[in-house]
Amino acid sequence: MTVPNPETEKVHIAILGSTGSIGTQALEVIKAQESNFVVEVLTAGSNADLLIKQALEFNPNAVVIGDKQHYTKVKEALSSTDIKVFAGSESIAQIVEMDTIDTVLAAIVGYAGLESTLSAIKAGKQIALANKETLVVAGEIVTQLAKEKGVNIYPVDSEHSAIFQCLAGEFYNPIEKIYLTASGGPFRGKDKAFLAQVKKEQALKHPNWEMGAKITIDSASLMNKGLEVIEAKWLFNLKHEQIDVIVHPQSIVHSIVQFTDGSMKAQMGLPDMKLPIQYALGYPKRLKSDFPRFDFMKYPQLSFEQADTKTFRNLALAFSAMEKGGNSACVLNAANEIAVSAFLNDKIGFLNMSDIIEECLQKITFIKKPSYDDYVQTDSETRQLASLLIK
Ligand code: NAD
Ligand code: MG
Repeated sequence: MTVPNPETEKVHIAILGSTGSIGTQALEVIKAQESNFVVEVLTAGSNADLLIKQALEFNPNAVVIGDKQHYTKVKEALSSTDIKVFAGSESIAQIVEMDTIDTVLAAIVGYAGLESTLSAIKAGKQIALANKETLVVAGEIVTQLAKEKGVNIYPVDSEHSAIFQCLAGEFYNPIEKIYLTASGGPFRGKDKAFLAQVKKEQALKHPNWEMGAKITIDSASLMNKGLEVIEAKWLFNLKHEQIDVIVHPQSIVHSIVQFTDGSMKAQMGLPDMKLPIQYALGYPKRLKSDFPRFDFMKYPQLSFEQADTKTFRNLALAFSAMEKGGNSACVLNAANEIAVSAFLNDKIGFLNMSDIIEECLQKITFIKKPSYDDYVQTDSETRQLASLLIK
């Protein structure tokens, strides 16, 4: 399946998770690029009001509200339009099969995004992937299926978009290693005694990026970088020893590829997710934009330092889950989702998140070659265990 050329033909897009941070920014990109993109489908979890507003503005073919109790509200609000309205997560997984969709932007947060991304790949849709958890949980199945179906997965995550951009024109040149940059989050340089006391309000203040609550906590705990390391392994077919993390507090260098001759390529720009979103949707074209431009005088110094994996244990846990393989990363992800939600509900402290993840990694049965059903089972068992550990 070929992607429509965005310069000549409009790309018809389904946005899964349109009411989130990535989803709303994607709609800004589409609005500014009306001659290139058309919104075909919008889906949301439970934010019915915003979904209705977006539907009235962008007039998609269909919308889906994940939480069924909001169906009537959305249906009534859109009754004077031709927009089809559906509800439930099974409908999200089905709607992506629609013939008129070219590209699916997978921007649901967490494991909840796995099923719909898989069904979009099965239906042969191109994928713009924001939902990194999809690859963390079931990277082998997702990438294998994409290969079979001839589907391209275009990364939206800024670091992976950077790597992808650095690889343009390097098809036959092997990667020696990649460096994923990490801002270090709001607690960079802090010790465990400090972290033991932090509250969610502090963790929710990211220095460089404005994002959804879950990924913001993941950024503060360095789990986000851990998930991204695993995401990179699958996207770029790398061995674990080929992936490194370097802390770069200014978030200007978005990541770096080192080739076998020792040469390194980095992609730079201001931290603005609209750029990687637009690149993924418009690929292979670079569409003209009016995003703010980088000013060297405002950044006289770009600095780099080692990640502190002793204090921020989540990053070390993610590396070891990746090395172990099998269902380990699925356990890591499920335990983390439960731990983050407990932290956001003031049930556990910041450092307890790593304790819970570590205990789940030790206790959940290891499966070397998991099937899809094994992943579903592992996810559910891990959630149960993690919830028990919190009580
Ligand atoms: P968010 O919480 O702001 O938005 C999530 C979206 O998914 C919302 O539209 C929500 O309604 C929907 N959703 C949530 N649970 C759902 C469910 N069970 N069923 C159906 N829909 C559901 O999250 P975000 O920050 O936009 O992140 C989305 C994904 O993109 C995450 O995987 C994140 O890691 C990744 N990502 C985000 C950023 C960023 O800057 N926000 C950057 C890189 C990667
Ligand atoms: Mg990222």
